[in-house]
Amino acid sequence: MPSTTGLVCPHCGWPDGAEPFQVLSAHPTGAGGTLWTRCACGSLQARVVDGHGTRVVSRGRPTPAGC
Ligand SMILES: [Zn+2]
Repeated sequence: MPSTTGLVCPHCGWPDGAEPFQVLSAHPTGAGGTLWTRCACGSLQARVVDGHGTRVVSRGRPTPAGC
């Protein structure tokens, strides 16, 4: 799985560097923190915040529309 840093969401094109569409939970650590966010398409993202900014380290699948 290649790094997703600096890219956009492959599902909906939301820029990873932009403000998260929705922050589900935040877990501050000494060096920054971890954010669980939901993208505009519904996919879950794990973002690590450190001194260099925010990186998307894990991305789930979008929420199926309908059904
Ligand atoms: Zn998305």
